Amino acid sequence: MHLFISDLHLSADRPEANERFIGFIEGKARGAEALYVLGDLFESWIGDDDIVERFNAVVAAFFAALARSGTPLYVMHGNRDFLIGERFCRETGAKLLQDPAVVDIGGVPTLLMHGDTLCTDDVDYQAWRVQTRNPAAQGMFLSKPLAERRVMTAMLREKSKEVIAGKPAEIMDVNAGAVRDAFRKHGVTRMIHGHTHRPGHHELEVDGRRCERWVLPDWYGRGGYLEIGGGKPRLVAFSA
Ligand code: MN
Repeated sequence: MHLFISDLHLSADRPEANERFIGFIEGKARGAEALYVLGDLFESWIGDDDIVERFNAVVAAFFAALARSGTPLYVMHGNRDFLIGERFCRETGAKLLQDPAVVDIGGVPTLLMHGDTLCTDDVDYQAWRVQTRNPAAQGMFLSKPLAERRVMTAMLREKSKEVIAGKPAEIMDVNAGAVRDAFRKHGVTRMIHGHTHRPGHHELEVDGRRCERWVLPDWYGRGGYLEIGGGKPRLVAFSA
């Protein structure tokens, strides 16, 4: 069984999601063939040196225990936690996956993405994304004291909430052309991503080939995961 989660947005102030996370890691994920975290595991990640912060250390310890139990763990950056780096991976046993990545899942080449790069209608967001992925800008941010980074991140979050509230919902979903391009470019017929908080299963035809796109649920709501066992993917929502 391969498991896929994303958009948990874990933080110290959302205990329900944290309990689900612990239950999932100690339950379903134990003995899985692999667990893939496709971005936004954390509500924010201001640098690997913050892994010693109490909440972050607890999450890291659950991951480390899972990896030690023999479940391979893969983590992809989201738009909230793209500063996850080598130290996080070393201390948890996770392997960092590039976005996008094509991975063989039960014999099916599967395109894994966080999903934000598919939201090309949101031009302002894409510009912001380019800025924040700039290594020099990241280096500058990471050179600041943790306390200062924390304040800067909180201010950015507030500003971002205002911007999002003023945006039409459609532009924050994937762009149909970008989805087709991704299927073409990577030569796959199955894609899994998160980010949009619109969990579902979409079938489409690209150049005469039947393709499927699976969108993972966010954990702001009930949360859940995608499992692939015996070839057939299944979206599972946690019970209320
Ligand atoms: Mn996201």
